[in-house]
Amino acid sequence: MKRAFTDGGEYQAKIAPRSIDWLASHEEEGQSYREWLDSDPNLPGQGRRKLYILPLGDFDGTAPDLGKLQRYAEAYFYPMKVGLLPKEPDSAVKARSRVNRMSGKKQWNSRDILGWLPRQLPADGYAMLAVTMTDLFPDENWNFVFGQASIKNRVGIFSFARYHPSWSGGMVDENTEKLVLRRAAKILTHEMGHMFGIRHCIYHECNMNGANHLEEADSTPMHLCPVCLRKLQRASRGDPAARYARLAVFYGVNGLDEEKEWVEDREGEIRSAK
Ligand SMILES: [Zn+2]
Ligand SMILES: [Zn+2]
Repeated sequence: MKRAFTDGGEYQAKIAPRSIDWLASHEEEGQSYREWLDSDPNLPGQGRRKLYILPLGDFDGTAPDLGKLQRYAEAYFYPMKVGLLPKEPDSAVKARSRVNRMSGKKQWNSRDILGWLPRQLPADGYAMLAVTMTDLFPDENWNFVFGQASIKNRVGIFSFARYHPSWSGGMVDENTEKLVLRRAAKILTHEMGHMFGIRHCIYHECNMNGANHLEEADSTPMHLCPVCLRKLQRASRGDPAARYARLAVFYGVNGLDEEKEWVEDREGEIRSAK
C-alpha cells in the first residue's frame, strides 16, 4: 500500500500560478500528512460513516447525471457508502432568493441554505453536500458564488448552474455532457475532501488544488496526489488499489479514457509492489 503514497515521478508538481489563479491571491501554507493528523480532523465513526448528496430544486437537461455522481463518489471514497437523497422541491428550500441583474436568473442565498442543511443530515451521515441547478449568492454585495460549505457542520451547498457552457452562451457539442460530469464530479469530491479536514494542496497538480475560476478548475486533474490520497485513505480506511479499480470502471463506462488509463497504471504499480 505504501507505493500509493510515494511519488515515483508519475505526479506532476504544482505548476506556478498565473496572476488570475488561486495561489496568486490566496496565502496557502499547504498541509502535510503529519500536519493534517495533528489538526485532529473530523473523521467518520460512531455510526456516522455515510456520505450524502441532496439535490435541491429542478434538474434540467444541462444538469449532470446525479446517479453517475453518486457512483463516482462511491468509487472515490471507497469503501464509504454514498447515498443520493430524494430531491427537495424548490418550495422546501429555506432560503431567500433574488433575480440576478446580470443573468436575469433566480439565485438562492447560500448562507441561508447552509443554516438549514444541518437539520437535513441523516443520522448515519458523516457529511452531506447539497447540489442544485439554481445559481447562488452569499450576500447582496456578491454577483454569485459557486458554493459554500461548513466544515464544522460537515455540510455544503454547490450549484452546477454555471458548469454547462450554455450558461455563458458557449458551444455545446458531443463532449459537453462529459465536460459537465467531469466538473461536477471534481467539485463534489473536492468539497467532500474538505469535510475530512483536508486543506488545499500546494504540492502537486491535484483534485485538492484551490481554483479561482472555471478554467483553472478544469485544468486540475480528477485524481489526488500522494499526500492528499494518504489523508483520504486514513479517513476512509480504504485500500488504494481497490479504490483505483473502482474508479477505472467508472471512467471506462463514462468515456473518461485518460483518467481510466492513469488509475489503472497506479493500481498496477501498487499491486506489483506488494
Ligand atoms: Zn476548496
Ligand atoms: Zn494533493
